[in-house]
Amino acid sequence: MATAETKPHVAEFTNEPFVDFSKPENRKAMEEALKKVASEFGREYPMYIAGQKVTTSEKRTSTNPSHPSQVIGVFQSATAEMAVQAVEAANKAFESWKRVPAEERAACLFRAAKILRQRKFEMNALICYEAGKTWPEADADTAETIDFCEFYGREMLRLAGPQKVTPMKGEKNYLVYIPLGVGVVIPPWNFPAAIAAGMTMASLVTGNTVVLKPAGDTPTVAAKFVEVAYEAGIPKEALSFLTGSGSTVGDVLVQHPKTRYVAFTGSKEVGLRISELAGKAVPGQMWIKRTVLEMGGKDSIIVDEEADLDSAADGVVQSAFGYQGQKCSACSRAIVSEKVYDTFVQKIVDRAKKIAVGPSEDPNNYMGPVVSKAAMKTILDYIEVGKREGRLVHGGGRAPGDGYFVQPTIIADVDPRARISQEEIFGPVLAVIKARNFDNALEIANNTEFGLTGAVYSRNPAKLEKAQETFHVGNLYLNRKCTGAMVGAHPFGGFNMSGTDSKTGGRDYLLLFLQAKTVAEKVSN
Ligand code: NDP
Repeated sequence: MATAETKPHVAEFTNEPFVDFSKPENRKAMEEALKKVASEFGREYPMYIAGQKVTTSEKRTSTNPSHPSQVIGVFQSATAEMAVQAVEAANKAFESWKRVPAEERAACLFRAAKILRQRKFEMNALICYEAGKTWPEADADTAETIDFCEFYGREMLRLAGPQKVTPMKGEKNYLVYIPLGVGVVIPPWNFPAAIAAGMTMASLVTGNTVVLKPAGDTPTVAAKFVEVAYEAGIPKEALSFLTGSGSTVGDVLVQHPKTRYVAFTGSKEVGLRISELAGKAVPGQMWIKRTVLEMGGKDSIIVDEEADLDSAADGVVQSAFGYQGQKCSACSRAIVSEKVYDTFVQKIVDRAKKIAVGPSEDPNNYMGPVVSKAAMKTILDYIEVGKREGRLVHGGGRAPGDGYFVQPTIIADVDPRARISQEEIFGPVLAVIKARNFDNALEIANNTEFGLTGAVYSRNPAKLEKAQETFHVGNLYLNRKCTGAMVGAHPFGGFNMSGTDSKTGGRDYLLLFLQAKTVAEKVSN
């Protein structure tokens, strides 16, 4: 355990700066990275179980949502038996990894951050192709990945240091944080680098071993991250990489008696299933499994009549349509004061009209494709529901191209209880709801089962204060958009059905992967 004297010196955490793509040298670097990554399309990636490369005869592929005929990577299709082996091997590896000093574990994260910085453009290009993110969105994903490594490395050093306990006369007493055991890490596709890396690195730096099962739509980004982690010094035995369908291997991983906890980010439906399965003890299980679940959102921006309407319109449009509305923090409901409603609707429609939709590798497009054909179908079905539930004022269907392109869609005059006002769509669909006054706007904002992000635009300090008290979301923003949380500055995670109230990128987060042990020794009477 580190003492104050042995603790290595690391500079204070600062966020990784975003790439300025207006600079010709950065545009050139990104174009070259896109070419390089494209030259590796179709490469096959093994799984890693018990430190060994594992392949299967059955394969899975991941494709480019901008050009679905392009195969990005070929993957193995894990069986249920392989999932069992992965948990058992991770359980064995826990015995040695938990003994590695916290400083060494943290150093792996700092090295991973360094490697990612060197390969930033390559990572950006891969995210752009596999997840359909535009250049700046892909870059934000990579920057957040670096931030998680840097932040959690520092956090572990803090938690490995002496912890305050009240001294007891005649005793030597102290508290130390120890790891839990095997963590099953299940990320979504929408932050294919940052969320996969965040949950994995938080697990590893705290001394747990991990079975990482990436999302089916973005395994290549996860495979690249795993390569970086190994290169940075994480032993292969401590981090297994298991590709397989969530429905085939998910339950097996969650239910295995040696699984100590599950760190999951994804939909409410899958999160609740994990919560239920993890809550049921199985033969051979020695503990109550912990679950860290980050789930869906139905995020609102309130636009008050005393707001700067142009700034609010910019914020709503960016939050609703950035990354095609596929962020858990995306604004899917604009709740607008009736006094400025018509003017505001016009402003957002004018802005949406200017949005270019097309392949994400083309930097002229503000919106790329949605992630998959299945996602596109769900979104288009919701748009049809929306057309019946409200007044379509912009978009309303597919955008041209062979990729999964959907127009930015705005549906006005939506009832607060309508389906498109309540259910997570996870696409570029914005419902606009009219509010009678500010109190009514807050009531509407709190009327879903979710509680992830929200924003309020108003120049009236009393209204902003009221929102701070009553708007029940994990991340509330005032006079700014509701997406773009920064590690360290905006610890991130929601209430209610949005998850287990954890906060990624915050000072409480690593405690979810640790347990505290208190030792008291009698030394005198
Ligand atoms: P899903 O819930 O569909 O999938 C998430 C992960 O769970 C994937 O790796 C998936 O694997 C896996 N999975 C599927 N079935 C099971 C199962 N039975 N047991 C265990 N794992 C399973 O979510 P999406 O990937 O579509 O991600 C989008 C969702 O994530 C949205 O609801 C969004 O709001 C939420 N999200 C929440 C965040 C937050 O911080 N609160 C942040 C980002 C996203 P496979 O892909 O192979 O099916």
